[in-house]
Amino acid sequence: MAKKSKAKKRYEWERRIWAGLVGYVNTGEGFERLAIDSLNWIGGDAEADLEQSEDIKAGATLETLAVRYRENVRTLLTWLARPDSRAAGPACAFLMQHGNSIRYEWQQAAFDPKDKDSPLMSEWPQWIGSVVAPLCRFVKDQIDRHDVDGEPLRDVIPIGLCDREGCGKFRVIQLYRPGHIFCSNLCKATFHQSRKTKKAKAEYMREYRAVTEAKTAKTGRLIVRHKGGKRGNV
Ligand SMILES: [Zn+2]
Repeated sequence: MAKKSKAKKRYEWERRIWAGLVGYVNTGEGFERLAIDSLNWIGGDAEADLEQSEDIKAGATLETLAVRYRENVRTLLTWLARPDSRAAGPACAFLMQHGNSIRYEWQQAAFDPKDKDSPLMSEWPQWIGSVVAPLCRFVKDQIDRHDVDGEPLRDVIPIGLCDREGCGKFRVIQLYRPGHIFCSNLCKATFHQSRKTKKAKAEYMREYRAVTEAKTAKTGRLIVRHKGGKRGNV
């Protein structure tokens, strides 16, 4: 198998952090994984450097910090999903307070002239103000790609807020197309159902039952497949 390019690895890494952010805000879980992944992003050494974070040094556990920061990170994602929302001010303040609270150490790397990918320098965090500082730095790096380098917004910040009213969950946009975005197939189906007339709903359910019954008969187990949904962001 061909070796993955640096760009591809980086893309996958970014996607993993975005998915971690969305999972953490949606469910309250996965905070430790997210903290470690984003610490790696700033050149940190996973658990060893996590212990250097000021809030952990002050005695807080990752569990209490996960609870402490969740609403702030929700505000941050709300703004990224809807940049014109009222979340913008508080989200930027949170981003600046934490994203700025990292001090780095720089050193020359042992450059290998035979390897064109050999790095010139290495960089790692020497002081970390809080456990969310690395993930704020990650978000700021992605914002710079859009604001400074001019990359398309949803290529570098693939965050959407579910379009089903009252849901409030986020999702990572896999491939951006105009249209609605949902956190799950369930929200997508509920959204489209709510827009149908009574007659169309009954018709849809009849067809839906016929399809699932046929599938159950054929395979002996139920495979739910949403019929007629246009390909979109879900
Ligand atoms: Zn939803």
